[in-house]
Amino acid sequence: VRLVSVRKTYGAADNPVVALNNVTVGLPAGTFTAVMGPSGSGKSTFLHCAAGLDQPTSGRVFIDGAELTGGDETALTKFRRQRVGFVFQQFNLLPTLTALQNVALPLRLAGRRVDLRHCRAVLASVGLAERADHLPAELSGGQQQRVAIARAIAAQPRVIFADEPTGALDTTAARDVLGLLRQSVRQGGQTIVMVTHDPVAASYADAVLFLADGQLVGSLTRPTADAVA
Ligand code: ADP
Ligand code: ADP
Repeated sequence: VRLVSVRKTYGAADNPVVALNNVTVGLPAGTFTAVMGPSGSGKSTFLHCAAGLDQPTSGRVFIDGAELTGGDETALTKFRRQRVGFVFQQFNLLPTLTALQNVALPLRLAGRRVDLRHCRAVLASVGLAERADHLPAELSGGQQQRVAIARAIAAQPRVIFADEPTGALDTTAARDVLGLLRQSVRQGGQTIVMVTHDPVAASYADAVLFLADGQLVGSLTRPTADAVA
């Protein structure tokens, strides 16, 4: 995921609110990045621009070498459906579909062949083999978020964008969910970008970016074993 000189403003041109100010950053494939910063620092805007859910005012965004900026909305929607997965704070499962049907949905929307055995296996991999035929309302918050992660993983996107994925969970459920995200990076080679204000959540990532007032003000990477004195 690459952002080049990305700027995003809201409101009138003569008195704009600057949400992102000249952000340039590259997130290597197969890594798990957390984006932190105070409320209003531009985290959601960063995620939306990086995921192609929102167009920056200026600058360019690339995923996997493909440009998300400057194209038309139809192509962008198609790109998102094929290559990008989302996990939200409030799970965003469709309430009338079972866990299994929710997992299969992005594949259906992308017009891809739906292999229900594969979808069941992905649900099993997040510990929900016994819950595949339950409705979201019959599941705990942690279980619902695990369904949402299974839904994101099942389509094997290049990148998963997660917006405060543990924000509505208790500590135990949060740890389960973070462990699953980490596992999908380690085993599935996924790239994950996660917005969080929780340092515990950020500690599961390989790298942390810090935003303040719409600017990238710092970054940290996980120390490697050799780096430990
Ligand atoms: P964070 O996710 O870190 O809380 P946001 O990206 O939501 O930050 O917001 C960054 C800035 O942009 C804030 O000043 C916010 O008020 C402003 N902003 C965000 N979305 C809109 C919008 N749709 N209209 C106007 N201002 C917005
Ligand atoms: P839009 O409505 O902006 O055109 P799409 O419906 O094409 O967006 O969705 C783009 C991507 O985001 C798809 O991969 C889709 O599965 C995912 N997505 C969008 N909204 C939701 C949601 N509420 N819950 C889960 N995934 C969603």
